[in-house]
Amino acid sequence: MKTFDFDLFVIGGGSGGVRAARMAAQRGVRVALAESGGVAGLGGTCVNVGCIPKKLYSYAAHYAEAFEEARGFGWDLEAPRLDWGRLKANRAREITRLNGVYLQLLTDAGVQLFSEHAQLADAHTVQLGERSYSARHILIATGGTPSVPAVAGREHAITSNEIFDLEPFPARLLVVGGGYIACEFASIFNGLGAQVTQLYRGAQVLRGFDDEVRGFIAAEMGKAGVDLRLQTEVASIARTAAGLVVRLAGGDSATVDTVLYATGRVPNVRGMGLEAAGVAQGQDGAILVDAHYQSSVPSIYALGDVTARLQLTPVALGEAMALVDHLLGPAGGKAARDMSYDFVPTAVFTHPNIGTVGYTEAQAREKFGRITVYRSDFKPLKHTLSGSAERTLMKLLVDEASDRVVGLHMVGPDAGEVVQGFAVALKAGATKAVFDSTIGIHPTLAEEFVTMR
Ligand code: FAD
Ligand code: NDP
Repeated sequence: MKTFDFDLFVIGGGSGGVRAARMAAQRGVRVALAESGGVAGLGGTCVNVGCIPKKLYSYAAHYAEAFEEARGFGWDLEAPRLDWGRLKANRAREITRLNGVYLQLLTDAGVQLFSEHAQLADAHTVQLGERSYSARHILIATGGTPSVPAVAGREHAITSNEIFDLEPFPARLLVVGGGYIACEFASIFNGLGAQVTQLYRGAQVLRGFDDEVRGFIAAEMGKAGVDLRLQTEVASIARTAAGLVVRLAGGDSATVDTVLYATGRVPNVRGMGLEAAGVAQGQDGAILVDAHYQSSVPSIYALGDVTARLQLTPVALGEAMALVDHLLGPAGGKAARDMSYDFVPTAVFTHPNIGTVGYTEAQAREKFGRITVYRSDFKPLKHTLSGSAERTLMKLLVDEASDRVVGLHMVGPDAGEVVQGFAVALKAGATKAVFDSTIGIHPTLAEEFVTMR
């Protein structure tokens, strides 16, 4: 039997790669992991330039609302001022701590770490500079990278990779795009005190979300101060003494300090030798895999953002655990973990947040025919004193034939926290009758989901 240097060689130390390497090594097989960013890159996009620093900055931005709203509750405050340098330094310190936690997890599990860019030499060989290692299985979990369209002056624009360490604070920020990243950063920097303009090429932001949710969040972001311009495209960007002058396709222009392009992400596949190894790729180079994450080369697997499916950290983690069970068998006599893409909940950390699970209204009508829509659009109790004009939207979609709740959507404070629990109910197939028989927790926003009649 052929012997290999490693049983599993993981390329990429992000959400999916670290989880797969750690779980596999804990089963006693020989595992290596290559991360081109070294220890400082461990945790990948999510830890370094994604979910975690983004959420920390979102918390920072929420304080601005809290300071404002505190007055209605009797608090008098001196005019608060953001120390952007302190926020950046504290964020950086926390991210470095997390990199260390990831290193410890890998070391404790017995994973051999290579702080290098890796590429494929053949179906069983990984090349690290001049050295090469053989492996029974190779897992590609190299994630994605921002994609910026070819617009004149694009060299003046930044992406989400650079936004966290901007110097100085962008007093005037222009955001291009209407997806998760564009909407989140428009909200966050608006909260932190920037004057934010957001340009989106389509009729409404957040394509793919429930239409009512899209309209509602656009209106709320507008009320909070984001200047959202729909059906608008950038013609060119030029640097002048007054700042970056962004000419729009319609002829208007805007002068800003920073232009953030949040126009999607493409798989990280460059310089990896995929073509030579015969790994089949789809759009933008995404690695094509089957239900068990196996590529067209049987010994090579791929998961997470490099497969360009659902680009979410918990999805990459779920895929990693399912793959390890598939390759090595489940641990401790448990059933093999399977990854299900039905009813994957998600949140957009706009201000207010969006939380959603299941079908949109349009999708539910198409799939089930007759559905009942329950909705509630109201001013939360907190804002009776806060002075804020923010409203909350909650929406349930019920398949009339089965009474099953097939969609649940919220725009409001901590919507992600609220929706996580309801996602369990939807996954379990809860009917509207079960929702109705569930006692609410009063007074909360979440109780609205069990009191809609
Ligand atoms: P990654 O985490 O991107 O890891 C890939 C790693 O591979 C990187 O560390 C990279 O350096 C390394 N690498 C690449 N090529 C090589 C090579 N050839 N050799 C060695 N190493 C290599 N998801 C959520 O669920 N919630 C959120 O709130 C959220 N917020 C986000 C905010 C932003 C701004 C962004 C950009 C993303 C966000 N995401 C969020 C998405 C989430 O970060 C990704 O879905 C997740 O990180 C994907 O994990 P992954 O393992 O596939 O890849
Ligand atoms: P998205 O795919 O979500 O959004 C991209 C946006 O850019 C869309 O509005 C798209 O418009 C627009 N766009 C694409 N190409 C162009 C172009 N050439 N000119 C102008 N506009 C363009 O990508 P993001 O970059 O926002 O985020 C990537 C992924 O990361 C997300 O899809 C999500 O999976 C993940 N993520 C998750 C988060 C979370 O869980 N909270 C937070 C951040 C990211 P159109 O719709 O018209 O195509």
